[in-house]
Amino acid sequence: MASYDLLMFPGDGIGPEVMGEVKKVVTWLNKRNVATFNVEEELCGGASIDRHGVNITDAAVDKAQKADAIIFGSVGGPKWDSQPFENRPEGGLLRMRKELDLFANLRPAVCYPALADASSLKRELVEGLDIMILRELTGGTYFGEPKEIVTLENGQQRAVDTTVYTTSEIERIVRVGFELAKKRKGVLHSAEKRNVMKTGVLWNKVATRIHKEEYPTLKLEHILADACAMALVRHPKQFDVIVCDNLFGDMLSDEAAMLAGSLGMLPSASIGAKDKAGKAKALYEPCHGSAPDIAGKGIANPIATIASFGMSLRYSFDMPEAADIIDKAIAATLDAGIRTADIAAKGQASVGTAAMGDAIVKAMAKIAG
Ligand code: NAD
Repeated sequence: MASYDLLMFPGDGIGPEVMGEVKKVVTWLNKRNVATFNVEEELCGGASIDRHGVNITDAAVDKAQKADAIIFGSVGGPKWDSQPFENRPEGGLLRMRKELDLFANLRPAVCYPALADASSLKRELVEGLDIMILRELTGGTYFGEPKEIVTLENGQQRAVDTTVYTTSEIERIVRVGFELAKKRKGVLHSAEKRNVMKTGVLWNKVATRIHKEEYPTLKLEHILADACAMALVRHPKQFDVIVCDNLFGDMLSDEAAMLAGSLGMLPSASIGAKDKAGKAKALYEPCHGSAPDIAGKGIANPIATIASFGMSLRYSFDMPEAADIIDKAIAATLDAGIRTADIAAKGQASVGTAAMGDAIVKAMAKIAG
C-alpha cells in the first residue's frame, strides 16, 4: 500500500480548528487502507513566532521541501500586528511558496446546488458551476524589476511596477493548464491583454504553440482578461479551465470564488515543477485567513480545508476516486441541510466545526459503502 508523508501547518486562529477536521478525514482514509498517510505537524506564522521567535524556522522549511504534500491552515491575527514587516506571520507562508517554487496556483470555483442561493448571481447562472482558475504565482507584475518609487527632479514621485514573463515561465503554466483541462472537460481559456501588453502578445503566442505542438486534441480559446472578467459574471458555466498571469489571476480567481458563495468553502492548491521522478512539491490551503473574529468559538467552516486536502489526493497522490468521495461527501452533507453559520440561510439552524467534520466523514463512509 502506498505511503505518503503529509506535513500539516495548522497555523493560527481558526487554522488548528479546521485542521482538526482534516485529521478526521485522514484517519478515516488510513483505517480504510486507502493509503497510509503519515502526518507530521509544524509551526508557521504567529504560532511559530510565539515558540521560536520567527515566522517559520529553517528546519520547518526543510521538512516542507521533503514532504509529499503540505496541508496549510491559516496564519496571522492582531496579536502579531506589531511584528516587523519581515517577520509578519504571512511571511512564513510566502517563504515556502518562494523556496519551493510553487508557480501554479489552482483555485476551483464550485457552486454546490444546495448553496446556489448564497451566490450573488442568479441560481440558474451558478448552480452546478465547476470551473478552475489557474494563476501563475511566482512571476509577472508582483515580482518584476524594477519595482520602485523614485523622486523626480521636479519633486514628483514616480512609481514603477514591471510586468515580465519569459517563454519558459509561460510554457510551464500553460502546460499545467492543458494537463488540468485534459482531466476535466478538455477546454482551456488563456486570458491575457495581447491588445495592449507585450507580455500578452508573448503569452498568446506561447499558448498557441504549446497547444499546436503538445495538446492538439484539446480546445484552446484566447480571451482578453477584461472580457473574461465580464464573461465570468454573465455566463460562468461556459468555462472549464482559465489560465492567466499573476496579476489577472489574482483578480479573476477572487471574482470566480465569490460565484461559489462563502470564503469558508474555497480550497486551493499551489504546485511546483515536476522533478525527474515526476513528483511535484505542493501546498494545499483554504482561501480564507485565520478569522480572528470567530477563532476559538468552534464555529468555523472546515469545508475549504477538507476540500483542500481532497485536492492533494487528486493532484499529488493520483487518487481521484478518494478525492471524489470527499467532494461527494461535502455535497451530500450540504444536501442534507447541514450548515455552519457562515453558509446557513436566514433562520436556518447551524452546527459547529466538529459536527460538520463528523457529518462529512459519516457521508464518506456511506458513499464508499
Ligand atoms: P479572513 O479570511 O480570516 O476572514 C474574513 C471573514 O470571513 C471573517 O468574518 C471570518 O470570520 C470569515 N471566515 C473566514 N474563514 C471562515 C471559515 N472557515 N468559516 C467561517 N467564517 C470564515 O480574512 P481577514 O479577516 O481579512 O484576515 C484575518 C487574518 O488572516 C489576517 O491576519 C490576515 O492577514 C490573515 N490571512 C491569512 C491568510 C493565509 O493564511 N493564507 C489568508 C488571508 C488572510
